Parts: sequence; C-alpha cells; structure tokens
Amino acid sequence: MQIILAKPRGFCAGVRRAIETVEKAIEKFGSPVYVRHEIVHNKFVVESLKKKGAIFVNEVDKIPRGAITIFSAHGVSDQVEEDALKRGLDVIDATCPLVSKVHREAKKHEEEGYEIILIGHRGHPEVEGTSGRVKKDVILVTNEDDARNICIKNSDKIAFVTQTTLSVDDTKKIIDILEERFPNLQKGLATKDICYATQNRQDAVRQLAKKADILLVIGAQNSSNSNRLRDLGEEYNLPSYLINNADDIDEKWFNNIENIGLTAGASAPEILVQEVIDKIKKIFGETVKVVDIEGIDESVFFALPKKIRKNS
Ligand code: SF4
Repeated sequence: MQIILAKPRGFCAGVRRAIETVEKAIEKFGSPVYVRHEIVHNKFVVESLKKKGAIFVNEVDKIPRGAITIFSAHGVSDQVEEDALKRGLDVIDATCPLVSKVHREAKKHEEEGYEIILIGHRGHPEVEGTSGRVKKDVILVTNEDDARNICIKNSDKIAFVTQTTLSVDDTKKIIDILEERFPNLQKGLATKDICYATQNRQDAVRQLAKKADILLVIGAQNSSNSNRLRDLGEEYNLPSYLINNADDIDEKWFNNIENIGLTAGASAPEILVQEVIDKIKKIFGETVKVVDIEGIDESVFFALPKKIRKNS
C-alpha cells in the first residue's frame, strides 16, 4: 500500500495571509476581533482561531460598533464596506489580493461601458463580493447551459470575469460557448482569473490521477477549490472523496486498492494531511509507503494588510 501525495497541495498564499491577519490582529489589538464570514472555508482553521479570540459573524450588523473587524479572504461587496463604515467598524481587509484584482477588473469593465458576465457558483461569498463591486447587475453564468441561454442587451459590449477557484477545464468550455454566441465578447485568456493556486492544485491532481487508484481530497464541503479537485479525480474515473479530516475515512474505500492519491484544498492545513496519513498507517500498518509526486514549488507571498504590519 502506498500513499501518493500531490504537490502542491494545501494552503495557498491568500489563505496563509488571511489566517495570519487574524492572528496578528488578536496579538496587536487583543481579543476579541470579529471576522465577517469564515476567514477561509475550513472548520479546523475557524475553530483554532476561535480559541485564540476570533468571533465569526455572518453580517457586520452583528458586530459591536467600533470593533476590530476582518473581512475574509473571499472579499466583500461595496455595500458591506459601506455598512461597516456606517457602523464605525475598524476594518482590516484580508481579501486575497487575487480576488481584489478581479474586483478591479470588473469595475474597469463597467466604467468602460461593458455589460459583465460573471462565471462562478451562485451563493459563493466570492461571487457575492465580486457582483457587489459593480453598480449594474452582473449576468451570472454557473454552467454550460447558462452560457447557452443567457440574454445580453448589447452583444457588442460584453466582458467576463470569473471566480478564482473554478475548474480550469469547465471554465474553458463555458467561455468557448460564450465566444461562439458572442463573437465580440471581450477577449482574454479563459483562465485569467482562476488563481495560480487553483490551477497548480488541479495540475497536481492530473499528475496524481495517472498513478493513483483512489483520490482523497481534504477540504470543506463548502470549499469551491476542494470540490473542483474531487470533481477532477472523478473525471479521471477515480473513486474520489472530499473529506474534512481523517475521521471521515471509510476503510471500505480501500478494498483492492494499492495506491491512494492524497491532496488538500487551498484552505486545508497540512496537519490534516498528516492525520490522514497516520490513520491509513493505523489501518494498514507502518509498512505503508508515503511518496511525493514531482510538482511545482510555490513561492507566491502576499504582504499582510498595512494595519497589522510591524511598525504601522
Ligand atoms: S485560492 Fe487563490 S484566490 Fe483564493 S485565497 Fe488562495 S490564492 Fe487567493
């Protein structure tokens, strides 16, 4: 029995920055600090930060006036920013810089008079944040059927942006349909907004799929990038499971299996990977081999928000 580990896997630069933002804010300002929405989509991370003094809320009206407030890595709409301002909240924005880039892009398209198509998952906080960065309604495209059926007022002036954590392959298919229907769709790389971490983790699963008989993805059920990794495993005809942690493992999955592919979504900490390895070793014994596949060394780093950098 062998466990093959994907590379890269787990935390991306945006998630590291968001978690560190909460930790440093607690160190600098004392607890509690309030965080709007789960800082990243992972229960283990959220629970650890709660223990350190973070309080998670869904909306800013649940936060006492003037309190230190952190916006999650997924970003927020203009409205949420305005509401926070009206409430006198002391905001630290942990929105991933790659999400902020999409916000700027959407605003620029609107200023230039384009109607905006947003490709993403309905209800995901990043999609709500990006939609709420432009004044007019965006046209949400969630799948290929939507791409075939949406109505556009002026097909000469349309542009698209996407969620950062989509499937690269699905997004390309959606954009192919849109380009065929709307030849004047503002051109751009189909995957331009899908972040490096999402792309790298999907590429790593493609490599893993060549060697594994089963795929385990550690990540939360509401984590978009983790779900896409599980979907990708299924596309390669691997039995693929999205698990929160080692407790979710069912021994029956490993009947007649030699090679277990293991990866983790961008918001899942490495400690959970180690716990899964330990559990598999507990089931099959210490002879289980653990190997890494070759993959990219990521060196992306985002500076912390100004308010919590040292000397500020
Ligand atoms: S998955 Fe990508 S966009 Fe999301 S926080 Fe990580 S780096 Fe940023």
